[in-house]
This record gives sequence, C-alpha cells and structure tokens, in this order.
Amino acid sequence: MTKYKAMIGLEMHCEISKTNTKVFSPAQNSYSKKSNIFINPIDMAFPGTLPVVNINAVKKALTMSIILGCQKPEYLYFERKNYYYPDLPKGYQITQETKPAPIGIYGSLKYECDGKELTARINNIHLEEDSASLDHFADVSVIDYNRAGVPLLEVVTEPDFRTSKEAIAFLETMRSIYQYADISEADAKKGQIRCDVNVSIMDSTLDEKNPQNWGTKVEIKNVNSFSDVASVIDYEIARQTELKETGQYDEMEQQTRRWDSVSNTTKFMRGKVDAIDYKYFIEPNIPKFKISDKLIDEVKSSIPLLANERKNKYISEYGLKPEDAKILVKEKNISDYFENVIKEGLEPSKIVNWITTIILGSINKLEISIDEFFITPSILAEVIKMIESGKINKNQAKNALYEAVETGKNPLEIIKEKGLEQISDDSFLIDLVTKVLDEHPSEVDDYNHKGLSNKANFLLGQIMKASQGKANPATTMEILKSELDKRK
Ligand code: ADP
Ligand code: MG
Repeated sequence: MTKYKAMIGLEMHCEISKTNTKVFSPAQNSYSKKSNIFINPIDMAFPGTLPVVNINAVKKALTMSIILGCQKPEYLYFERKNYYYPDLPKGYQITQETKPAPIGIYGSLKYECDGKELTARINNIHLEEDSASLDHFADVSVIDYNRAGVPLLEVVTEPDFRTSKEAIAFLETMRSIYQYADISEADAKKGQIRCDVNVSIMDSTLDEKNPQNWGTKVEIKNVNSFSDVASVIDYEIARQTELKETGQYDEMEQQTRRWDSVSNTTKFMRGKVDAIDYKYFIEPNIPKFKISDKLIDEVKSSIPLLANERKNKYISEYGLKPEDAKILVKEKNISDYFENVIKEGLEPSKIVNWITTIILGSINKLEISIDEFFITPSILAEVIKMIESGKINKNQAKNALYEAVETGKNPLEIIKEKGLEQISDDSFLIDLVTKVLDEHPSEVDDYNHKGLSNKANFLLGQIMKASQGKANPATTMEILKSELDKRK
C-alpha cells in the first residue's frame, strides 16, 4: 500500500461495568448468563416511569474524559436518539450526540505501536445506555433485558490510524485504561466491548490534513473482538484498493457494512441514501446538571495509577527490569496479583521471575485468567517464603508448582507430602551433627589437628545421608563448623 494510504477512525463502545446499578434505573448492573434477571420497570419503558441519572456512571465517564484530556461541558444533559428496534422498548436511546453535550470533546491519547509513540485525536466521548441483547435461533428470537440500560461509553476518534496494527494498539491501550481506572472489566467475552470501524483510502501523495482529500467513508458496524477489528480493516483496505485499481472507487457510495465471520468478508448493509434520521432532541425527563469544578476535582483525585505509572514505579521503586515491568502491567489483574504477593511481605525482586515464567505460562496453558487460578498470591508467597527461609530449594519449588498445575493440587501440600521441606531446625540438626561426629572421631581429628579441611565436606555428606537428604546444607555446614570447633 504505497500508492494509497488508509484513513481509519474508530467508535469504541465499552460498557461501564463498575457501577452497582444501571445508568438510569436502580436495576443491578451485572453480567449474567441467566437472562432477564436484572430488570426494572424503567428499563422496560413501563408507562409513568422516569429515568434517574446514576452519578457514579457520570463519575466513571468523567474519569475517562479527564484521562483523555477532553474539554468537559459546563452542563450535563442527554438527548433522545429515536428509532424502533425490539431490543429498545422505549423506542429511543438516551445518549449525548450534539456538541457540546458529550461528557468530553477534543482530547487525545498517546499509545505505543512497534516501539513508536503515536497520538490519536479523540473527537468526543459520550455516555449513553446500552440496548437489550437479541439471540436468534432457527425459528425464534429471544430478548435478554439484562443489558438494557447498562451504562455505555462511546469514544469516537479522528481517522488517525493508518494500519490495523495501529488501531489494535490503540484499542489495547484503551482497554488497559478502562481496567486500571476501574471503569470497566472491558471484557470482550462478556460482550462489554464493541467497535464501529470506519475505513477509506486516499492517494498517498495528497495532504491528509485536508478532509476533502479523504476517500469515501465505509463504516463497519458492531465488530465484537479486536481480532475481528484487525480482519475488518485488512479486508476493507484490500477491497477498496482493488476498487481503486479497477477504476470503480469513485462510484462507490458512502455505506454501512457488517463483518461476516463465516465468509471472512464485509457485507453491504445500507447506503447513504437509506441513512436513518434519528430526530435527536434534548431528553426532557432529565434536568440539566452542572458539572462543578468540585466534582471534577473529586474525580481527578480518585484516579488510580494507570499501567504506565505502575510500570515506572516497578522500575524506579522496586528495581525491576523494564521488560519485566512491562509484562507485569500488560493486564491489570496480573499487576494486581504481583502486588498482592508483595503484600504478603516479600521483596518484589524475589517474586518477578516466578510470575513471568511459571505463573503466566501456566494460566496461558490452562487458558484461564489469573483471577481464576487456584495458585493464589498467598499460596505463591508461601512457596517463595519456603525458599527464602531455606526450607526448600528453587528446583523443588519449581517442581512442586509444575506438579500442582498438572494435578490441580495445592503446591504446599505437594511439598509436605513429598517431605521436600529441608530441615533447618537447629536443635534437630545439632543432635544429628553430634551423632555423626561421635561416629567419626578420626575424621574430626584429621580436620581439627592435621589441617585436612576437605574432611568437613565428607562429614557434611555423612550428615546429609543420615537426614535422608533433607538437612538444609547451608545451615548444617554452619552448625558442623561450630561443633568441630568445640572439639578442638
Ligand atoms: P457520522 O457523522 O456519519 O457519524 P463522523 O464524521 O462523525 O461520521 O465520523 C464517524 C467516524 O468515522 C469517526 O471515527 C471518524 O474519524 C471516521 N471518519 C470520518 N470520515 C472518514 C473517512 N473519510 N475515512 C475514514 N474514517 C472516517
Ligand atoms: Mg453511539
């Protein structure tokens, strides 16, 4: 693609999962495989019900607006987007469309792609309600209203991405912010993230700052995973390039398409002429609400450390290698796991390798998230403490952990069952040393009086044998030397 370059803009929808209740109703805001259990008459649009704005959803939305450096509106208000669909019982969605309504406008986000720092401009970020979800079967469709009214944040970028790789790097950075700022689990498996992807291509020689040079926008709606976003972009760039090459691009109308994961192609849905008129107007049932400086300050001061800040802390305060710190902060729950092991009273540097090798390797193999892993931070901390105190050595710990992952058994039990714990108990070791020295008077004499220092190793060997290999060698050597001294 040297002749043409792609202009790619994203509309990323992410549910705010970290509020107790929905955005305009007191129904519980939770994901469940069981349908229609978190519903309130407001979500069902029963006559006479009125929406009440959830201040916590507003605070979470403001958090993202502040992180993206957006301008905040003086007043918060909402608008109605009117359309009929079975998943929308009111016949309209409450959203924020017309500037300056959105909770944030004109911000930006720096993100890393292939080791380079790039910037994506944010056009706006707005707070709205999610629709119910529909499931289609062969002869019936069912509706689940659990999702109806769940707070949803939509972040709209300028067309600042040129490749699928850049778009994905941006989306991953956004997901990390959602998680670290405690706005959302941002879990695609729970359907919490959906993207509309906009793609056009233009001649590489033209100035991309001038929107008149941009190509015809093709919008691909409701893409559900980051890997599908990448496939959509790569497919559209190839399809549109082909149209250019064959002279058909200029006839192509602005259009909406969808991703078809069976054929791995995008399919035409509607053209510009069929564009829907949503007849927006201000939602009359929600009074205007002043966003005070006090509220903004309160939200600002409650923003926790984000991935980059945690990474810098790990490097400068904990002395970790940058590459290790990077691995640990990639997912918030892994970083939390690491910090929870530290809380058990261990030096960060003593923990890192266990997590980056065995723990991450195991959860990858088991295809689970670290939160679901039965080797909890406190169990791992116990194992590491046993190494630190000399009860077991590193290899024994490794083997016990690997066996635990294999069998699902607690590694601490494996260590106990195998009798792996080395004996470091002083009085036990003194008795053992005394017994062995009594049995080998000539070696004691060789060491103490004839200068044969290697006899100490021989005696240590005898003691190890007598303990069936369980005596801690370092502690035993110390005791052996002091006992030999006493016999000089
Ligand atoms: P609409 O008003 O139809 O919603 P917008 O201009 O608001 O369209 O843009 C929606 C999304 O499409 C934004 O992410 C924007 O960056 C992107 N976009 C706009 N024009 C183009 C284009 N020519 N090529 C690719 N993306 C575009
Ligand atoms: Mg929207």
